[in-house]
Amino acid sequence: MHEKIENWAQAMLKCVRCAKCNSICPTLEERGWEVIGPRGRIRMALGMLQGKISPNELMTQGEYTCLICNHCVDICPSGVECTEIILHAREEMFNRGCAPESSMMLVEALEESHNIFDMEQDDRTIWSMMDADAEEVVEDRTNTDAKIGYFVGCLGSFMGRLSQIPLSLVKTMDHLGLDFTLLGEDEWCCGSPYYLAGGREMIKELAEHHISAFNNLGVEKVIATCAGCYRVFKHLYEDVGGIKPPFEVVHANEFLADLLDRGKLQLNNGNSINKVVTWHDPCELGRHELQYDNPRKLIQAIPGIVYKELPDTRKDARCCGGGGGVKGVDAGLGMELALKRVEQAKSIGAEVIVSGCPACYDNINEGIKKAEANIKMMDITEIIAEALGLNEE
Ligand code: SF4
Ligand code: SF4
Repeated sequence: MHEKIENWAQAMLKCVRCAKCNSICPTLEERGWEVIGPRGRIRMALGMLQGKISPNELMTQGEYTCLICNHCVDICPSGVECTEIILHAREEMFNRGCAPESSMMLVEALEESHNIFDMEQDDRTIWSMMDADAEEVVEDRTNTDAKIGYFVGCLGSFMGRLSQIPLSLVKTMDHLGLDFTLLGEDEWCCGSPYYLAGGREMIKELAEHHISAFNNLGVEKVIATCAGCYRVFKHLYEDVGGIKPPFEVVHANEFLADLLDRGKLQLNNGNSINKVVTWHDPCELGRHELQYDNPRKLIQAIPGIVYKELPDTRKDARCCGGGGGVKGVDAGLGMELALKRVEQAKSIGAEVIVSGCPACYDNINEGIKKAEANIKMMDITEIIAEALGLNEE
């Protein structure tokens, strides 16, 4: 998403096949199969481009099980943009009608309902019903003029088990007396799952829709709690849709850290959280966006917390397994990787894992349940709301 590769055959030919990337690829680690690793994915993409192979089931399995975690890009000595190449391969396969069925179902839902779950758009703020106070705030603030716009995203909007994420941010902003708005039923899917499936055409329409909806309300800053939505607004609408949003785009962790820096968010006299807490770097915030310090600063500003780092962290962070649209193609892979992250959290005695992406939250939480680990999963917005006394523990 960072930069377009104009000539992707050239980009692929930069690969000298040293296999350094294979040594850290989490999908190759699990499946032990060259085509489910970066080097193999690049070779298959090149073969397709040169007309030597046609997309087939093996290739679909290879290209669509990449988590887009960007670890291979970070480690490659030849500067090969592996994830960009894999995304180009998916685009080509999508255009040839060879995207996996799960991806196509998601695209159909998006086309028909403007969200990935094929739900009624009227239910976009259904999550707010879990908390009477928040429900009133959301009702008052949907589609109102404000300088701050909150983009909730499909996962936070429709997956009841993730509702604590939008509830926590809304309650925090209301508590701090901030003037903000939400789009309600005018919020559509940002386009990230569609892009990961290989689709490109609809991105312009999605960009125009969201930019005009926020512009009409006078929004100057858009906050996203989902790392995927955040990157779409920040990069994709311009890179693929050709429209640069005329407002600032921030992830909730940046937004809250800025409030902390400016003394608007006071945590030192709030609730103590007497737990061992760690931060899991979402790939889309960490390696893709280099946002490492703000969440750690926020967590460590909460009284009582004993902060510990996970074994693989920052640029070396293990992907949780929930990224890249992989769960629809190989759900078992996501769980195996989640269990590894949970094991790492157990090894440092963590009682709470905090993250900043609903996909990480959901996948790691599934791993916690499966491992029957005595660990709580929380979003950064949730732990801040708890420190402010806005969420019951
Ligand atoms: S590390 Fe880079 S050069 Fe080496 S095999 Fe992987 S992509 Fe190719
Ligand atoms: S982005 Fe991650 S999952 Fe995909 S090939 Fe690279 S290291 Fe493997």
